[in-house]
Amino acid sequence: MSTRASQFSARVERRDELSPHLVRLTLSTEGFASTGVPDEWVGLVVPGQFQSRYYTVRSYADDELVVDVVRHEIGLVTEWVVREDCVGSTLTITEPKGSFDPPADAGWLMLVGDLTALPAMARIAETTELPTRIWAEVADALPDYLPATADVTWLDPPPGEHSRLAEVVETVAWPEGPGYFWMAGESAQMRAIRKHLMRDRRLPSSAYDVMGYWRASSGRQPRAVDPGPIWRAGKAQGLSDDEIWAKYDAAPDEHEARA
Ligand SMILES: Cc1cc2nc3c(=O)[nH]c(=O)nc-3n(C[C@H](O)[C@H](O)[C@H](O)COP(=O)(O)OP(=O)(O)OC[C@H]3O[C@@H](n4cnc5c(N)ncnc54)[C@H](O)[C@@H]3O)c2cc1C
Repeated sequence: MSTRASQFSARVERRDELSPHLVRLTLSTEGFASTGVPDEWVGLVVPGQFQSRYYTVRSYADDELVVDVVRHEIGLVTEWVVREDCVGSTLTITEPKGSFDPPADAGWLMLVGDLTALPAMARIAETTELPTRIWAEVADALPDYLPATADVTWLDPPPGEHSRLAEVVETVAWPEGPGYFWMAGESAQMRAIRKHLMRDRRLPSSAYDVMGYWRASSGRQPRAVDPGPIWRAGKAQGLSDDEIWAKYDAAPDEHEARA
């Protein structure tokens, strides 16, 4: 029987605006244990709410956990994080999970994502020894956010559209030999890329990890589906990463599932 806590309480110690759309929160917490997987995420429940939203652990050391939160036009966490007086609040965070898992023979990494994926791409690039290429679709100027060891292409988000990352991936040149492709961002773009990787590039599912981090909609997201249980159940059933993330994308809202 596991005696590990699955939820932790965390206090917001600092709030720093890294750019117009990215807010860094430094949290103090006790008993948290990182998985060490560089794209690990936690669920975060802000004061007065019961739904969680998922955030990458940008770093964790000495009971200090850092998350970088994107401000959207509207949103449950967005509305809380824009307030400077969020410092001092107590949050609930869930047990971390990660899915980045390159094969042993990978000779390179390709990382693709939008601003919500930037924390994970930074942590992956900081911790790998593999040559790494990154495509980051980000409106804000964050020139020092990604490590200088990575070969980075900054892309402007298309005006009036959420993302054009799927189109970008379909046109980039791929390195020779075995490697690992990691991508996260808007779910419809991610579904398109999974199809491209499977049908056009014919990659085995062990060679990539593509995650829908958010869904385009016109209001606060009513859904909050924890990727953790879907990930664990999928692994237990022997499903490929691709099949697991397709299940995540198709999962009903938790409140709908209860209704
Ligand atoms: C494994 C995982 C790791 C993640 N890591 C991070 C991270 O480190 N930092 C981070 O900021 N986010 C991260 N996300 C994404 C984040 O959970 C979602 O963007 C979440 O919806 C934001 O919550 P909110 O309460 O601000 O907005 P919500 O109430 O969920 O949504 C409000 C509105 O904003 C829109 N919206 C949500 N996300 C975006 C977006 N990216 N761009 C434009 N519109 C958007 C929705 O469509 C909706 O209309 C991660 C998601 C997953 C699954």
